[in-house]
Formats: sequence, structure tokens, C-alpha cells
Amino acid sequence: MKKGVYKYIKKAKAMLAERERYIKQEVKKWRFDTIAVHGLYSVAEALEKNQGAIIEPIFMSSSQAFHDSDEMEAALSYAIPAWTYSRIHNPSISYFEEVLALLEGYGFDGETNCCATSSGMSAIASATEPFLVKLKKTREEINFVSTCQVYGGTFQLFNVRRMEERGIECRWVTDPNDIDQWAKKIDKNTRFLYGELPSNPGLMFFDLKKVIDLAHENGLPFIADSTIATPALLRPITYGADIVVQSVTKTLTASGFGIAGAVIARKNIVSNIPNDAMKEDFALYLKQLPNRDIGWCLSPIQAILSLNDIRTLRMRIDILSQNTMKVAKFLEAHPKIAQVNYLGLENHPLYEVASKYLWLVDAEYDERYQMPVNRYGHLLSFVVKGGINNARKMVDNLKRIWRATDLGRIKSVITIPAISTHQQMGACARCMACIPSGLVRLCVGAEHPDDIIADLDQALSKVK
Ligand SMILES: *Cc1c(COP(=O)(O)O)cnc(C)c1O
Repeated sequence: MKKGVYKYIKKAKAMLAERERYIKQEVKKWRFDTIAVHGLYSVAEALEKNQGAIIEPIFMSSSQAFHDSDEMEAALSYAIPAWTYSRIHNPSISYFEEVLALLEGYGFDGETNCCATSSGMSAIASATEPFLVKLKKTREEINFVSTCQVYGGTFQLFNVRRMEERGIECRWVTDPNDIDQWAKKIDKNTRFLYGELPSNPGLMFFDLKKVIDLAHENGLPFIADSTIATPALLRPITYGADIVVQSVTKTLTASGFGIAGAVIARKNIVSNIPNDAMKEDFALYLKQLPNRDIGWCLSPIQAILSLNDIRTLRMRIDILSQNTMKVAKFLEAHPKIAQVNYLGLENHPLYEVASKYLWLVDAEYDERYQMPVNRYGHLLSFVVKGGINNARKMVDNLKRIWRATDLGRIKSVITIPAISTHQQMGACARCMACIPSGLVRLCVGAEHPDDIIADLDQALSKVK
């Protein structure tokens, strides 16, 4: 390398040291809401670089220009932090990633990093793919272990794309609270353990710490899909999880302004793959190598739209959870409803284990609570008496609640998973994933809960 290149590297080192100091000595001391609102975007940066813009700018540019060839060489060899080309990186994406890395790492001593992706599915695909490489020495088939109560798209990815098309075995755990089931499925060709909690729409929940410990005892990483909880209720990395995936499309981007995803990893993950760069900083590795080559990057405009919603995450989850509880209690008492599944209802079989993990972040610093409080999110499901036809009739008569295969919105949305999100997986897999045909999934929004209850009530009155 030329001397000129080193000049840029030296300058970058000083900048990185200052950034690290800022995170360690200032940002890490802030409360959750402050991090969500500000991230690393400071007054100083706005004034020096962005003409004082108080909101993070949307850098709608394909690529970055360099002062000279020395800087270009330093940037393209990843020797200095640069963004170079928007398939690899972009300054708007940085603002988004920094916030999510800090929120998922809130309450965790170590460092976390984030790699933004184009969708939740590309987050899941990219978080798992690096573990599925064929190692030269082994000729045996490789496998991974996952809860079977997963999002429909995840089920298709694991079962069809990976297992049927590529022969990579996905070993499904039917009862994730049975730790022996996990243990028995692990062998020397297992690459990772995967779980979604709470699951969509089955509301599966399990003792996360026990499964993480089992993974680590076997030298394997644990990957969690934490989309339904969001970091406002659960931060799996604080319990030792190696990697978290988020469908940022959902609760994090409650406004519904598009599709986005993220992979958040702690530094120095556990893995039996001999790839030091990957283990040291998994999110950075994804960004610089596999995701650069595959191209499932996030658009800068989407990054800022999502970031804007993330600022109000904690307060939103609090309100939505309370509204959902009220709606769940109404449905539970309704004579035309056979069953209500909500983790916050005391009669839910997983109420106890969910209550161990689902806490509203920083409630102890909230004037209204001044102590830790459980919150259970805004996903619930229920079964209408009389089967699928009655469920359809009730859904078809709703006036305020939107019929959509969507969740996590500021507006209440409803769907029937067996004929929508979980259609392609087939009846047998739906049974395994606890999704009966008449199950209705409701995601309660921020409307006044009385209006949502009134809408449900009038729709149910149309059912015989
Ligand atoms: C929606 C969803 C996904 C997929 O996310 P997209 O952004 O739609 O690609 C993954 N996991 C869960 C739990 C989801 O709800």
C-alpha cells in the first residue's frame, strides 16, 4: 500500500476512536427512549456535515466520490469506514443500523452491530446462510434445529428452499419448552439453533436462556426472530443470544411505510465454522462480504422512514399492549368465541414463561410505573365458535379493522393465517405450528380500544 493510503487510515483510526468513546462514555448511559430518538446522530455532526439538518438526511445516491485514488483504495479494501456504493452501504443506512444495534444491545455489557436488509426474510436468509457452508473436511449432510412455530415465510425458506431443494436438513422442534427435544436433535453436523418468540401467529414462547445455554454447550450459535417482541419488550442478546433478526416491516415500522429487515449480532459469536472474521463481527462480515455479493440491501429512504417510527417504539408498545389486553379480555368473555390466545392472559399455558421475559423496557424509570411491568405486545389470536365459515363471516363484517396479511401497524389489522400467510405450508405443517384452520389473528393498533371492541362486537353479532 502507498504512503498516501496510510494517511487516510490514520485519519479514520482517530475518527473511530472518537466514535467509540462517544458510544461508551455517553450513548451507553442514556435511557432506551433517548437512544431511540437520537441514535448516534449528533448536533455536531449535523452542523459539520449536514447543514444543520436536525433529522438524519436521506442520502439518495448510488455511490460515494473520493478525494483521490489513495482514498479509493483505502475505502474499497475496507481499511477505512466508507460507504462506497449503496449496495454495500449508505450513510442513511448507518443511522438506522446504529440505533437498532444499540436498542437490541440495551442492557448488554458487550458490543452489538447491525446489518440492514431489504426485508425480514432477507434478514433471516442472511443470518443463517453463512453457517450452511460445506466444509472441505466433512462429506456429511449438514443440519440445523428450529422451533416449528415460525412465520410462514421462514417455514418455506427452511423446509422448501433449504431442505427440499438443497438437502440441508431442518430439524423441527415441536415443543421448544422440552429442552431434551432440542438436545436430541443436535449432532456434530448441526450448525445453529433457531427460534421465533413470541411466534407469529401461534404465540409460542419458551425459556430462551435454557436453549441459548444448550446451544453454547454444543459450540453453536442461537439465532432469535424477535419481530413480535421488539427490543422494547425483549432483547435476546442480553440473555446470551448470538444473533437477532427483525422484520423491521412490522412493529418497528408501525406506520406501514414499506418493507425492511435487520440482523443484529453481538461481537464474538459462538460457531463451529472456522471463519474468524464472521465470528468476530457477524453483522460487519455480512455487510462487507455475503450481502454485498448477494445484494439484499435496504433503500436509504426506507431506512429513514423506519428509523422515524423506531423513535417512538417504547411508548407505542406500551399503549398497544394495553389495548390488546383490553380486547383480549373482551373476546375471552364473548359467548361466540371458543378460544383466545394472548400471552398476557393468565390462563394461557405459556403465561408464566412469557412473564419471565417480556418486560416493558425502562418501566422502572417511568413516572407512571416506577417499577418493572410486564407487557405482552399486540398480537393475539382467537377461534370463533362454529369453524372457519363463521370466522370468515365475522372478518368480512368488520368495518374499522383492516383485513390484511399484516401486523405491527398503528392501525388494527386482522387475518386468517390458514388461508393467507400460512397457506402454502400445508395442513400438516400448520397443525405442527399450532395454526387451526379457523384461527383468526388480530393485531391491535393505537385506536381507542373501545372502538375496536365495538367493531368486533358488531361483526360477531352477524355470526349465528
Ligand atoms: C413478517 C415476518 C417476517 C418476514 O418479514 P418481511 O419483512 O415480511 O420479509 C419474519 N418473521 C416474522 C415473525 C414476521 O412476522
